[in-house]
Amino acid sequence: MIVRGALTTLLLVICGTTGATNAPAATSATQEPGSLAEITASDNALLHAQPVVYELHEVRQPRCDAIDVREGELAETIVDVRSHAPFPDVDKQLRYFGRPEFTIVRIHMRLPSRILWPAMSDADRAAAAVTLAALRHHEAGHVRIATDEVARLNAAPFTVTPDPEAYRVTVVRRANAGVERIARLQEAYDTLTDHGRRQDRASGEFRGPRTELACPRR
Ligand SMILES: [Zn+2]
Repeated sequence: MIVRGALTTLLLVICGTTGATNAPAATSATQEPGSLAEITASDNALLHAQPVVYELHEVRQPRCDAIDVREGELAETIVDVRSHAPFPDVDKQLRYFGRPEFTIVRIHMRLPSRILWPAMSDADRAAAAVTLAALRHHEAGHVRIATDEVARLNAAPFTVTPDPEAYRVTVVRRANAGVERIARLQEAYDTLTDHGRRQDRASGEFRGPRTELACPRR
């Protein structure tokens, strides 16, 4: 076989979801697309099927409206995607054929386990719970993008050529392009949703409540 070694590329998609503002509570209820329980159940099904390693941290604040001090530190997701240019098969016309293979090898997800401040009311706890679910849903969106695109790329048409060097060059290029495309899709998702602050702009399974903590009015 003339085709030379396999390629491995690691992609790090890093998303820092930012925190909270003092927005009025009323705005989040009107934009909620389906119940939070449905969204959470859908996220659970997605994440349980993936190699997710969680890093949970408790967020303690002096008061509700101080939480935006933590902006950028509340949540992040890193998706490691490996791309591989396999040795080709040979068809009846003695042409080489194959396509790059993509695998999600590890997902690191950093999320708050709880958001706390002193003397929380029931409304405070409810607002914090919505924010936790919204943060998780935004981060799950990054995983959803990666899994959807990996599935699409792994089903893409074969590269078919009688020239083994052309096969190698093409499939390696496709492997790199696929990883770059997954990274671009992640960036576009963060641009669209403003890292979750405007998750209501997303459509379909990606849509969800905004990640801003809506501090109940006193
Ligand atoms: Zn993000």
